[in-house]
Amino acid sequence: MAFDYLVANLKCFKCGNISKADDSTNLQTYIFSNSEGNCYKVGSQVDLNLSEISDLSCFQLNPVKGNDPVHLLETWECPQCKEIMNWAEIVFHNNQILSINAIELNSEVISRCHFISDLCDSVAADVLGKNKQDLSDEETIETLKTKLK
Ligand SMILES: [Zn+2]
Repeated sequence: MAFDYLVANLKCFKCGNISKADDSTNLQTYIFSNSEGNCYKVGSQVDLNLSEISDLSCFQLNPVKGNDPVHLLETWECPQCKEIMNWAEIVFHNNQILSINAIELNSEVISRCHFISDLCDSVAADVLGKNKQDLSDEETIETLKTKLK
């Protein structure tokens, strides 16, 4: 499956390094139509493909209301300390990228976002002390919504 990169200066919560705005952060998303490995940044026009979300390597957390901005959570890697489970919140409106910010995954973030990378299964598994292979998609979403601080 094809993906694209989202690029921004992202601050690592683990080591404090601020990344370059390039694909060194490996912030991938499968959420655009016609993906071909492009790099998109704040201000870029994109083609959101929200109708087939279950095929896009992400889960839906909350419904999108009307023409409201769409919030997506994806993982990124710190090029400095190699942490691979950093999270970024990406906001879209009218098929344009409004913001790309490093965030800490918590209940407040989960409650305002619409979509999240399916790599969140490892977060849910850690919270529950289980193997991610033993979690259903529903259990993963429920855990993120109810058990994060
Ligand atoms: Zn780091």
